[in-house]
Parts: sequence; C-alpha cells; structure tokens
Amino acid sequence: MKQGLLIVLSGPSGVGKGTVCRALRRMMPELVYSVSATTRAPRAGEAEGVDYYYKTREQFQEMIERGALLEYAEYVGNLYGTPREPVERTIAEGKDIILEIDVKGALQVKRNYPEGVFIFLLPPSLDELRQRISGRGTETAAVIDTRMSEASREIGMITEYDYAVVNDEIEAACRRIQSIITAEHCRRDRI
Ligand code: 5GP
Repeated sequence: MKQGLLIVLSGPSGVGKGTVCRALRRMMPELVYSVSATTRAPRAGEAEGVDYYYKTREQFQEMIERGALLEYAEYVGNLYGTPREPVERTIAEGKDIILEIDVKGALQVKRNYPEGVFIFLLPPSLDELRQRISGRGTETAAVIDTRMSEASREIGMITEYDYAVVNDEIEAACRRIQSIITAEHCRRDRI
C-alpha cells in the first residue's frame, strides 16, 4: 500500500499556524491532525486529546527517554513534542497527517523524515508580523522585539523547506496548502 504524506506546517510565532491549521481541517477533513504533547496548562476551551495531551515535566521527560516523541522543543518555558506512534501508524495506513510545529521541531523531523513535505508559513511582511504579535495585547515592547528577532532568524531557515506559503488571507493560504498536497500526491503516487 502507498504510504501517506507526513506534512509539516511550520513558521515563526505569530504567523497564524494554528488558525490556518484549524481552517485546513474544515477544508480537508480527510487529513489527520497530529495532536502534540505539552507541559503548558490547557487554555479555556481546549480539551485533552483534541488540542494537546497535557503532561507534567516528569511525564514529558519519560516520553523523551522512551523515544516516544518524533521531535520536541522548548517554547517560552514549556515543552512541546509530537508523539511518534500515531504519525508512523497513520502514514503506514496510507493516510496523510499534518504536524503544526515550531521551526526547531520541524528541522528535527526533517532529519528523521527527509521525505516529508515541509511547508513554511510566512507573514505578508515583517511589519504585519509585528502587528500580529503586538495584537495579542499582552506583550511588552521588549518581548515583542525578542519575538521579532527570533522570527527573523527562523525565516532565515526557509531554504530548508520545500514550500513557502504567505498567510495573507486564511482561506487563500489553505487553498495553496491544499494544492501543494494534491501536487505531492500526483508526484509521488505516479510509481
Ligand atoms: P501554543 O502554546 O500557542 O499552542 O503553541 C506554541 C508554539 O508551539 C506554536 O508555535 C506551535 O506551533 C508550537 N508547537 C505546538 N505543538 C508542537 C510540537 O509538538 N512540537 C513543536 N516543536 N512545536 C509545537
């Protein structure tokens, strides 16, 4: 049986990865969405096993030691990681799975799964990204500056990715991602 695609959607913090991924799930219900493990506390409206698997640091550490994570990274004081088993099972069943993860994690996945489809989500401009980060309302100027220099460094990693998608408008960005997935199937399933 043909393997499914391992699709990685990544990009700097504030670019709208989560929003695009949620819209994509509505547009492509056949796509499996990888549920990450995290040590951060659930936010209002989030549910165990739907948005994340919520873990203590000890539980997360134990998952790392068991080799249960495909990748993991620390982000603003919390650990985030992709459980390995569901990813491997899904692609072996011939279904596509999408991982919405940060740039550090994406580069780790690329090392282990170079055949993955790596998509980098870009803001329309750096000014727009600053506005989106500031728009969250809670950050100080110093935090915004730190996030912006981190984002510029991450955008420098774009050459490691197969595709760049500008998140100018959510529906349009989703349609581009859908086209990429279709094209990758046409390319890989020909043999
Ligand atoms: P949030 O706490 O806002 O849900 O996510 C914070 C950041 O962690 C986002 O950039 C998100 O893409 C990233 N993230 C979520 N899950 C994972 C994961 O499993 N691995 C990695 N490396 N990053 C993740």
